[in-house]
Amino acid sequence: MAANWKMNGNLASIRPLLADILAGVQTGMNAEVVICPPYIYIDEIALRLDNTTIGLGAQNVSHHDSGAHTGEVAIGMLQDYNTGYVIIGHSERRMLYGETDGIVAEKFKKVVDSGLKPILCVGETLEQREADETEEVIARQLDTVIDNAGVKSFAKAVIAYEPVWAIGTGRTATPDQAQEVHAFIRLRLARHDEEIADLLRIVYGGSVKADNANELFTMADIDGGLIGGASLIAEDFLSICQAAI
Ligand code: PEP
Repeated sequence: MAANWKMNGNLASIRPLLADILAGVQTGMNAEVVICPPYIYIDEIALRLDNTTIGLGAQNVSHHDSGAHTGEVAIGMLQDYNTGYVIIGHSERRMLYGETDGIVAEKFKKVVDSGLKPILCVGETLEQREADETEEVIARQLDTVIDNAGVKSFAKAVIAYEPVWAIGTGRTATPDQAQEVHAFIRLRLARHDEEIADLLRIVYGGSVKADNANELFTMADIDGGLIGGASLIAEDFLSICQAAI
């Protein structure tokens, strides 16, 4: 269960938020819980998560190793802070910051090669869904990464199915809609390697809330969640984590 805090909060708000999440998770959870804070708080949060069961993730990484890339953060810098996961190819990165499938694939490979675990986001826009292009879009997003990094690299990866029309909109995919795409993703990987496809964790993201988490997480191919808005409220995020099977 990964919390994507995006560009929200400040020290005054994230300190109590993290303390409340930590206290809740320490009472025992089935799910592996990961917090992905804004970069600038990674140092502080890494310290607070040290010796806890909550993992740390980054929301992005550069596809370059170092150099003249103002404002970017390199994978080596994330390694300094014990960052276990990196979200790659979030639709906001793809749409607002021009990340192409090719750049996403390069980032994915960089994360895997460094020993960290990518959370690779894939998903279609509303127009694409309405034009019946969902599978074509997801296949293209996945295939570019498989071609670039190899199917074996998915042994260390998580895929997040995030329909763009469900992110931050309050409009969630129905459990059946989500399950259908999750099964498609697993099948696409299985064409290359059945074992990796079977073991792969495919999580759902898109307006997951305490009141819809249960029915989503009971679906056969939904293995967890990438949670945006609801992860900013400790009580809501903890209820979602508790819905994990
Ligand atoms: C996200 O941005 O990854 C996300 C799933 O956001 P929300 O839960 O707010 O839809």
